Amino acid sequence: MTPDDSTLPWLAGPARDIATRQRGHALLLQGNAGAGVFELALRVARTWLCETAAADAPCGRCTACHLLATNSHPDLLALLPELTQVELGWSVGGNDAPEAGDGEGRAKRKPSKEIRIEAVRDAIGWTQKSSSRGRAKVLLLFPADAMNLVASNALLKTLEEPPEGVRLLLVAEDAERLLPTLRSRCQRLLFEGPTPEQALAWLEGQGAANAPVLLAAAGGQPLAARRLAAEGFDAAAWIALPRRVAEGRWEPPAGATIPRLREVLQKLCHDAMALAAGAEPRYFPADSLPPVAAWPRLADWSQSLARLARHDEHPFNAPLITDSLLTEAKAVWTKSRGRA
Ligand SMILES: [Zn+2]
Repeated sequence: MTPDDSTLPWLAGPARDIATRQRGHALLLQGNAGAGVFELALRVARTWLCETAAADAPCGRCTACHLLATNSHPDLLALLPELTQVELGWSVGGNDAPEAGDGEGRAKRKPSKEIRIEAVRDAIGWTQKSSSRGRAKVLLLFPADAMNLVASNALLKTLEEPPEGVRLLLVAEDAERLLPTLRSRCQRLLFEGPTPEQALAWLEGQGAANAPVLLAAAGGQPLAARRLAAEGFDAAAWIALPRRVAEGRWEPPAGATIPRLREVLQKLCHDAMALAAGAEPRYFPADSLPPVAAWPRLADWSQSLARLARHDEHPFNAPLITDSLLTEAKAVWTKSRGRA
């Protein structure tokens, strides 16, 4: 992420409200990553740590703000899984994290999706030391549901009775995935994200081509849309995709992983179901969708994709799975025709 992402225009209001009104020492912030919930939490933390008197937003000029801009403020600790660090381009104090090697001859281990218990224990130790710059200390966890049971339990006592001056910011897309004992110790806040107009205006301001199509493809989430654009989003190809899939003529982009492919098909499945139910599609323009498919076919397809999503970590035979996914998708429409 770029350092100025905490200045996304739709974050200023909610960040000021949280930073100045919330007195709890443990906050649980729920919202979409693609709408900037992590950047919101970061802005709240920066507001708390800014050393300008009575700041209701990071001033951007004091020593603390300069340290925060390079993630080298000693009183902010952000616990992110390795994978999230990679995705956000997050590095601490200029050091690139995480390390790739894991010893044991497993030279290229995948970046972890978990917040590791060791990291949580280290963080608890960190909260017990006094603040370096004499203000608050902020421990930020994102996504907080990336802690497993052991890591979550390790954090309970600190959540309940944090040392003087320590504030915890737990950030999650789905708070229900946290242990109830964690949730109950936090004050819960919901981040709604930008309005569609704010999201579109921002995306257009970033110079994105075909911003409305791009934003819809990303489910209305502007940061997710920016990432799609950076990966070479092709609006014409996106609009052509639904019919090509239904006709068995779609070829996934080279290098598309199974999870990515599954995600695209889930978006198509969602919109095909919306169309069948007489609702507005979300990801594709309505006139780009193939004819209405039979509901039982769509329901089976949806369940099959959801089952696949639970096994995203599985080392797939990618070409084989890709073929079977595309055949399954096409059959939704051919067999719907057969029944009609
Ligand atoms: Zn400042």
